[in-house]
Amino acid sequence: MPTAIVTGSSRGIGRGIAESLAAAGHDIMINYTRNEDAAKEAAESVSSHGVRAEICQANVTETQDGRNLVDKTLEAFGRLDLLVNNAGIAPRVRADLLDAETQSYDEVMATNLRGPYFLTQYAANKMIDLKTAGTIEAARIVVISSISAFTTSINRGEYCLSKTGLSMMTQLFADRLAEHDITVNEIQPGIIQTDMTDPVKDKYDKLITDGLTPIRRWGQPDDIGKAVVAIASGLLDFTTGAAIPVDGGFHIRRL
Ligand code: NAP
Repeated sequence: MPTAIVTGSSRGIGRGIAESLAAAGHDIMINYTRNEDAAKEAAESVSSHGVRAEICQANVTETQDGRNLVDKTLEAFGRLDLLVNNAGIAPRVRADLLDAETQSYDEVMATNLRGPYFLTQYAANKMIDLKTAGTIEAARIVVISSISAFTTSINRGEYCLSKTGLSMMTQLFADRLAEHDITVNEIQPGIIQTDMTDPVKDKYDKLITDGLTPIRRWGQPDDIGKAVVAIASGLLDFTTGAAIPVDGGFHIRRL
């Protein structure tokens, strides 16, 4: 059975991705940092699709934790076919660009960009070994960035920078790993209903009703899950280094 690691999959978009991949026949390593109960609940729900699910506590900000996550997946399942870099945080405080503090910058960049960069490096090396050994046929890497990769929010500059960095990270690894037949693609979610967007729900409710997005509804975690399944199933195997918007049309420039 193909095996996927989905970082930050105890809740929100990551959980939606894990559920969609499980429904498509992937064993899943559920990853979380703090909330073990949520991870256990996610694993129970994922296994109801008839696949195996394990949970692993690992803080993707810490390079060694990321390595442990990959090693524990290989110990538990014996293979790794797909890495989904999903875990990410918003700044604890939305601070104006002229006031923002270095501490928030460092925390957001370490979690959203440095962590995925070195996790991808480690997982890619393992995938190359697994392919060489004939354990897996295809390997794929997906990066969950955001519409913030190309949209300014002047009260969370560090978040936007981290997501723009993920776009270049996707292209770098896509370029490097193509010779090993490993695709690396970026999904740019729009406004998705999760705990992360809960504090700004009223603001976004109004913006969406007023037509911010051509498709006038909140995105749901399984909207992102379906896009990941398309990649995981091999439907986009001649696509690499691409940024795929799953955003209700938010990215369209309109007059
Ligand atoms: P969320 O509801 O806050 O869920 C975050 C998940 O990531 C949880 O499972 C959490 O586990 C885990 N996590 C947080 N920090 C982690 C770390 N350092 N190491 C490992 N796991 C960690 O967030 P979400 O809305 O689903 O967002 C998921 C991703 O999509 C993020 O990268 C976010 O930037 C991106 N995104 C979200 C939206 C949106 O509208 N929601 C839009 C565009 C992009 P614990 O509970 O254990 O901490």
